[in-house]
This record gives sequence, C-alpha cells and structure tokens, in this order.
Amino acid sequence: KKCINQIQRTHYLNAYITITEEMAMEQAQRADNRLRTGKPLGPLDGIPFSVKDNFCTDNIKTTCASNMLKGYVPPFNATVVQKLLDQGAVLVGKTNLDEFAMGSGSADGVFGPVRNPWSYATQYREQSKEDPDSDWAITGGSSGGSAAAVASLSSFLALGSDTGGSTRNPGSLCGVVALKPSYGLLSRHGLIPLVNSMDVPGIMTRSVHDAATVLRILQGRDERDSTTVQAPDTPPSLPEHFDIRDICVGIPKEYHAPGLSKDILAQWSRVADMFEQAGARVQEVSLPHTQHSIVCYHVLCCCEVASNMARFDGLEYGHRSAVDSSTDAMYATTRHEGFNNVVRRRILSGNYFLLKSNYERYFVKAQQTRRLITEDFKTIFRSGIDVLLTPTTLSDAARYSDFIQEDNRTRSAQEDVFTQPVNMAGLPAVTVPTALSPRGLPIGLQLIGQTLQDWKLLTVAHWIE
Ligand code: GLN
Repeated sequence: KKCINQIQRTHYLNAYITITEEMAMEQAQRADNRLRTGKPLGPLDGIPFSVKDNFCTDNIKTTCASNMLKGYVPPFNATVVQKLLDQGAVLVGKTNLDEFAMGSGSADGVFGPVRNPWSYATQYREQSKEDPDSDWAITGGSSGGSAAAVASLSSFLALGSDTGGSTRNPGSLCGVVALKPSYGLLSRHGLIPLVNSMDVPGIMTRSVHDAATVLRILQGRDERDSTTVQAPDTPPSLPEHFDIRDICVGIPKEYHAPGLSKDILAQWSRVADMFEQAGARVQEVSLPHTQHSIVCYHVLCCCEVASNMARFDGLEYGHRSAVDSSTDAMYATTRHEGFNNVVRRRILSGNYFLLKSNYERYFVKAQQTRRLITEDFKTIFRSGIDVLLTPTTLSDAARYSDFIQEDNRTRSAQEDVFTQPVNMAGLPAVTVPTALSPRGLPIGLQLIGQTLQDWKLLTVAHWIE
C-alpha cells in the first residue's frame, strides 16, 4: 500500500505507464496469508517490484512506449517476471522508457519524458537554482522509469533491459545500483527484442546485496531461450568477509574519453585510490579497440533492429492503419503511424547496411570489429585482472531542456561510450552510486567483470558500497 501511495504521490515523475494496483493487492494478500499461517517466507515474498514496459506481462498492457503497441495485452509473462512472481514478489506497475528501448534519456517515448527524482531534492534546487516544475534533470535511459521507481522508493527492485547501457545509464544518473548480467545468464524470453545478440534483462535495486539476491533467483537456463546457460553455483548471499587484497583492478586508459566531466573523473580517481589504499592491485590497462565501439554498435544495432521490427506489420500486433487501399499501403502507413523518428531512422539505416552491395562493407566489418573489442577484454582478463573500474556516464544527468536541444542520436551515442563495449562482449557490469555531484545529482561508477563471474563482480561492488 505504501508503494502504491508513493507511486501516486510521485506521479509527476512519469515513471510508470501502468499501475497494477489490484493485482498487487491480491499478490500482497497471498504473501500476508503465508506470513500469518507461519509458512516460511522466501527472500522476495511480499516485495514490491516494477517492470520496464518492454517485458511481456500476462493480461497487462505492454506498450514499449510506442503507438505501435498501445493496447497490446500479452497472454504470457516474460520468464524473469514469472520467476519474481513465483517467489511471491508483488508487481506494482510497468515503467516508462524510450520507444522500443532506443535512447539514453527516457525522453521520447509516447507517454512523455521521465523526470529524475533527484531534481526535487533540496540540494539540487539550492545548488542549481532550477525550478524542477519547469525544468528538471533527465533520468537517463532507456530504463528511466525503472530507475526513477527505485530511486523514489515506490519499488524495492525493478527490471530494466540493457542492450548498450540502458540499465546502467539511468541507474547511475538516478543513484541506484544497476546490474547488467552476463549475456545468456538471464532469459530473454518475453523481453521484446531490440538487439538479440546484446539484450539482457537488467536488475535495479537500492543495494548491491539486493541485486545479488535477485540475480540468484533470476539466473539460469530457460528452455524458451536457447541462448541461456546453466548458472554457476552461487552461495545464498554475498560473502561478508572478503579480502580486497586478492583483487586486481584494471583502469582502462581509453576510458578517459572526450567530454568526461571533472566530477566523474574525480570520483573515478577517488575510488581507484580507495582500492589501492585497501591493498588491492590497481593497474592501468589498454582496450585499444574502444574507439570503434560506438560506430560498431550503431551498425549492428540498426541491422538487428531492421530485422526485429519487421514483425510489426499491422497484422498480428498492436496498431493497424485505417488505410486499406492495398496491403503494401497498409504496411507502410501502419509503420509510419506506429514508430517514432528514432525507430524509423534505425530501420532505414539497418536495411541500408544490409543491402547486398553494402553487407560486407558494413555488417561484416562491424561483426569483425565486435570480435576485436571482445578480444581486448579477454586479453586483459587473461593477464590477471579481476575487474575493470570505469565511469558509467560522461557527466551527471543533463537538464531536460538541454537534452532535447541536441541531436538525440549523437547524444545517445556519446553517452554510451562506457557501456556499449560490455554488451558487445557479453560481459557482466554493474554501476554503483558513489557520490553526489556539486549540482546535487548522483554519480555512479561501473565495474566490469569476466563472463559468468557476476557473483565475483557483485562481491567487489559490495565492497565499494
Ligand atoms: N542508448 C542505446 C541505444 O539507443 C542503448 C539502448 C539500450 O540499452 N536499450 O541503442
């Protein structure tokens, strides 16, 4: 009840698209009955959670913040949603996002932009002399609604999706813990695809400890997603006694990217020093192909988008145009009315890259570059590095009025410089809030781990916390 009240009290954040109050109360009642009858409770029994609106939810609207899927009600739950419900967690709502999860601001879904809860904190108002009613900080994206839900305390945990940073970016800008698990560790069944070879469900929580609890429940093979793998054995909780002196932390020199703010740089140095003072080995490393990752991601993303979005033809899902002069005209107008400019642009670019005459030059080249980016990480980890410490974003959250003035695609691409390489390599990464900027907005840092060593990654992240 408190969480539902909090959603209503903070409705101006625009974090939720759908509130599932009735279902939540029933599910909560069931957990309450178990408690009263003395049945043992699991770690998530009665815990309120929210889900990004690109995960299918049985009998609950699933819109992807797009006209294309307005009114679409799936007949099944995504595997990760079902697993949380099976554990007695209580779904309070579906959260806002960029249309089809394409973006880094949660600023251009059809339900309007999400506002960063920190815009309303006293320190932000005093430092920046901004009136949050007329101009506020963005949440980042595309899982901005989920990040705002956890940050504003209306959900204890939220699911996001992460294809190029969409869980970590808003997690960092909203001051919550955001985990992108190893590719294949969590099922994508029921997550409406953006880039199938990079998508993973992301976990947002108030603490690293909570993220570990949720990871343990969600991980593992799912026969409905052939890319999933068996989860490694994990103990019930993160170790309380852990010797940081056994850890070697890499600092990738290429991550001193243009546009990195001095506040983030200062935090990055501070935490690196903290590791060193505690006895960890801290070492500069090189990931030489980082500079190609933005372009490489862009080509691969558009190609997979062009293929994925072909299913939205007005016949089976969501929107269908009233134009019926011919089947082709119906397809064309349906897609024109259904998708925003960002989605349409990516479909067009993807089809261009995949033309027979362009395929080798763009798609194959990008695949080869992706392999080089992956190999960079492998080399570093083979040399004895346990985790990499990097920034998550270039700066703290931008003001909405600034964010929308810039070319969104360029902005998006720049913002993802620290997060995208990880998706291309399938590695686990987590962002942890480490400070507030002088403007009173959260700053997070990212730790990157080795494939399927998500638990070790969280153990180190827990140490920073
Ligand atoms: N900002 C990136 C994009 O627009 C990442 C999206 C994501 O991770 N869902 O593609």
